[in-house]
Amino acid sequence: MNDNSIGVQAFHQRELDAGRFLLQRCGDCGRHVYYPRECCPHCGGTALEWKTPGGLGTVHAVTTVRRKPADGGDLNVSLVDLDEGVRLMTRIENLAPEAVRIGLRVQARVQVKDGRGLVLFDAIEGAAA
Ligand SMILES: [Zn+2]
Repeated sequence: MNDNSIGVQAFHQRELDAGRFLLQRCGDCGRHVYYPRECCPHCGGTALEWKTPGGLGTVHAVTTVRRKPADGGDLNVSLVDLDEGVRLMTRIENLAPEAVRIGLRVQARVQVKDGRGLVLFDAIEGAAA
């Protein structure tokens, strides 16, 4: 499903825009790669394949960006470690910003807004207890 006529980052964004979240996995060392690259950052291999991740992850770090209510209010920015072993900067959407905690289990989803896809996460119910 790779398309060599465009770069890997453009391919990744095009898939996101279509509502699909894909991760690269290195066929040489077996590790996952994110953000998309031409070569594996772990072993230098080029046998990168696109895979659909399970989408489950854990909040590694959390920040609240303070904004005026007129600008949409406070915004959560989190680093999430996917179970596949990669880290994403993202937002946890279904909790108030101050309720997001390190260690929270979260589930990825793709939000397409104005034709542009973005990976966001929702807390899994009960995981915060
Ligand atoms: Zn590798």
